[in-house]
Amino acid sequence: MQNRNPYSSAEIDRASHEREDDERMIELASSGEARFIPIDSERNLVDKKSGNPEAVFLHGMMGRAVSRGADTQVFLGYVEGTPYFAVDVTGQETPLGELGEFVDLRQVGPLLFAREGSLLAYARGMTYWHRRHRYCGVCGATTKVIKGGHVRRCTNEACKAEHFPRTDPAVIMLVHHGDKCLLGRGKHFPRGMHSTLAGFVEPGESFEDAVAREVYEEVKVRVGNVRYRSSQPWPFPASVMIGFHAEAESLDFDVNESELESARWLSREELRPENLPKDGSFFMPRRDSIARRLIEEWLGHEAGPSITG
Ligand SMILES: [Zn+2]
Repeated sequence: MQNRNPYSSAEIDRASHEREDDERMIELASSGEARFIPIDSERNLVDKKSGNPEAVFLHGMMGRAVSRGADTQVFLGYVEGTPYFAVDVTGQETPLGELGEFVDLRQVGPLLFAREGSLLAYARGMTYWHRRHRYCGVCGATTKVIKGGHVRRCTNEACKAEHFPRTDPAVIMLVHHGDKCLLGRGKHFPRGMHSTLAGFVEPGESFEDAVAREVYEEVKVRVGNVRYRSSQPWPFPASVMIGFHAEAESLDFDVNESELESARWLSREELRPENLPKDGSFFMPRRDSIARRLIEEWLGHEAGPSITG
């Protein structure tokens, strides 16, 4: 597929069938081939010394030592035949600070190689889930890690409920009408940034329903012709963004100030790079975001993904 969104992971073979085999998991983790991705409180280890940040993957004695001391370990899969594991080192005394710095992946993600960014995001998402599911949501007993770190099972023999990593779907949509598109400012956006609307999908809702509801809640605009464009893993902390274009019935709108700071219609002409204000009062979302891609696709600067071939 062309134009994959950042943090997606075509090159990772998740080898889910191997997770079932406990002995295979131990054998892989103790082999010299294994690479370990340490996570400390949702932060990833990155070496910034050379100027360009690089992900730090542990291996050999260091990797095995960190693996043994880790609270949780997750088999992520293979990249070009090399097995990768996420290890949660939160709260542990380790010498890892000598190898790099633990940072929020969103600060450095766009500067990493795509494959490294995908692995780090995947590792972060999995350890985040583990740290919040130590207890069974059904009976309250402790849970234990099984299946290579992809399931937690309740230790209460009368319960044994299995808990799976969760991903919360969120819809993100560029609303357009004629030659204009609607961009809004969230309350916590950096000064000047304008972006597409977005919101979480609720139980019992289709993605298309969620698009229509969120747009109406935020700006009181009715939309139709909701068309899927592409998606992006967003494990910050636990989402996947599902991107759409949606056509507004009219240009009238009314901002719900409990949800948005402001919104405005912009024409293709106004969004030409040479016409954008240079004083910082208006800028678009980052190039690595699906929001930016939805805007660029609508502007006609970029083709959509070729999923259907
Ligand atoms: Zn239970």
